[in-house]
Amino acid sequence: MRNKSTALLGLLLAWTTSAAAAPHWSYEGQTSPENWGKLNEQWQTCNAGKYQSPIDIRNPVAGNLPPLDLNFSTHAKTIINNGHTVQIAVEDEDDFKLDEQRWVLKQFHFHAPSENHINGQSFPLEIHFVHANSEDELAVIAVMMTPGKANTALETILNVLPEQENQEVPLNQKFALESLFPQDKHYYRFSGSLTTPPCSEGVIWLVMKQPVEASEAQLKRFTEALRHSNNRPLQPLHGRQIVH
Ligand SMILES: [Zn+2]
Repeated sequence: MRNKSTALLGLLLAWTTSAAAAPHWSYEGQTSPENWGKLNEQWQTCNAGKYQSPIDIRNPVAGNLPPLDLNFSTHAKTIINNGHTVQIAVEDEDDFKLDEQRWVLKQFHFHAPSENHINGQSFPLEIHFVHANSEDELAVIAVMMTPGKANTALETILNVLPEQENQEVPLNQKFALESLFPQDKHYYRFSGSLTTPPCSEGVIWLVMKQPVEASEAQLKRFTEALRHSNNRPLQPLHGRQIVH
């Protein structure tokens, strides 16, 4: 009896500990994207939202959007493979102007294969540069990567990738982001959401039209480092307009 209750207590403790931590979500099985909205009350938008990301970008409306004016110098603080993605946290040095507001880069991370599609086309890798304004609203600049010549910034990241999951490695270095952006700074713009729980809406999406090249070997190494694909399936548009 004593052994039995000790075992039960152990089980309860394990349960409490895991319940206290962030609830688990993933890209496969019971906790896969179709179920995110049911895993936690705070995540209902994942299933019920009407402005969800990612999307297939088609038939954009002409808005004569000017090219983005971006700064490319940032201070990389840390890098982590958190089991969902490889993410680099940065200091507030990189920024751009949009809608008369300043948007500051907070972190960037990777999805393989790409989450958004352009005219039905998927890409082997998509980078999300997550920016916030002074009211903590979010604007994500997305860049597609395609096989071609080797990419210097991606190489730098590959060289500092942590071996283990959830091991945060300090970088504390200036980071030149330029080679992670295309020459042509024109983009598609639409309203969307975070592509991971809690799937919050009100996110401005700016997807660069021109993809950026990285070598096949780099793309392969990066995809292997992520260990599993981490792209949420395409979400319905629900009448949203895409402007370019
Ligand atoms: Zn993302």
